[in-house]
Amino acid sequence: MRIIVQKFGGTSVASPEVRELVVHKVKQAREQGFSPVVVVSAMGRKGAPYATDTLIGIARTAYRDIAARELDQIMYCGEMISAVVMAGTLQAAGMDAVMLTGGNAGIITDASFNNARILKSDPTRIITLLRQGKVPVVCGFQGMTSDGEFTTLGRGGSDTTASALGASLDAELVEIYTDVDGIMTADPRIVDNAKILECISYAEVCQLAHQGAKVIHPRAVEIAMQKNIPLVVKSTFSDAPGTLITNIAKEDNGGATVIDRVATGVTYLTNIVQIKVHLDETMASDASFKVFKTLADSGISVDLINVHPGQIMFTINADHAEKASAKLKHQGYEIEILENCAKVSVVGGGMREVPGVMASFIEALSRNKIAILQTVDSHTSISVLVPQSDVGAAVKSLHEKFGLSN
Ligand code: ADP
Ligand code: ASP
Ligand code: MG
Repeated sequence: MRIIVQKFGGTSVASPEVRELVVHKVKQAREQGFSPVVVVSAMGRKGAPYATDTLIGIARTAYRDIAARELDQIMYCGEMISAVVMAGTLQAAGMDAVMLTGGNAGIITDASFNNARILKSDPTRIITLLRQGKVPVVCGFQGMTSDGEFTTLGRGGSDTTASALGASLDAELVEIYTDVDGIMTADPRIVDNAKILECISYAEVCQLAHQGAKVIHPRAVEIAMQKNIPLVVKSTFSDAPGTLITNIAKEDNGGATVIDRVATGVTYLTNIVQIKVHLDETMASDASFKVFKTLADSGISVDLINVHPGQIMFTINADHAEKASAKLKHQGYEIEILENCAKVSVVGGGMREVPGVMASFIEALSRNKIAILQTVDSHTSISVLVPQSDVGAAVKSLHEKFGLSN
């Protein structure tokens, strides 16, 4: 059996007309000799009646801080409705489609409601259905604990379902269908002349996704990478070939495709707060440790960390700023908070050991008079913290500077 997993995002299942395009993609896969497994997200985006954001809104009108477990139960409904409707549409087109929940499809998770981790993906039931010539239509984003509790896999988690099924079914390919023609050099909502990337490495797309490019869930990429299953991000609305995510590298490392580019894409994260904690010599020698321990104990994750004698600097998501500030002040620390910041990153597997990358980066921002509040770099990325009001200008100028607009 040649198995293909085809995942359709919210906009790809939003109306009867668009669902006919899905039918066409599934039919095409069958004509090419594949046994397709379909994964769907909840229908539509914010504002649509059964979209995940709408369901969250309904629960939160009852209580803003409704418990994570209860929120998962309502979020579960979005994918259930979508999968039933999609299975019906495929049945109407003459296919023997069978709707499965995440649990039915063998996705077993831990009990971290709202952001559960997949512990096991048991392919038995899907394989049986495929052998009978049926088309499984699986609810994305869903899992089940070993004692039968419904869980969800984190926002955007239908991609993760698709990859996990691809890995456990040993699929030839996982297709992620969405509303753009592939992964682009920047978010097209910010950069008009962003380009579709023909191919990109697992590592690069993971970095782009972690640094804000919401086109694919980073966990989906990690799962596919572990089993070396190719992922293709493409549009439901066109026949464009999309972006192939696989093992490519700048140098030829044993048959991998050779791609020669310094920067692959520019991305950004907003809603960030920078915190400076002042330390003085009267404080205990483990004062720095205690700052990070206080934050960790409060479940707050930190980024862009600089530890200097006399000062610690880091960033956190703005949603946690009030809590972090209260906890640190309670411990007696003097802190300074800078609100409304954004992190802008240039990612590229080819920037390793290339001289002048940081110089170009700084030049692009200073030419546009954009203040640099903090920087951090790795072998394959450079990130800066800038005022949030400058995020668009920063992304555009870096996109231009690194030759991604040509
Ligand atoms: P789906 O519901 O199909 O999963 P998403 O909204 O999760 O769709 O992802 C697709 C969206 O990601 C696109 O509409 C686009 O605006 C956005 N996006 C952000 N960064 C990028 C990028 N670098 N390349 C392509 N799309 C991007
Ligand atoms: N419907 C879920 C969300 O909006 C999962 C997904 O779309 O991938 O986050
Ligand atoms: Mg998505």
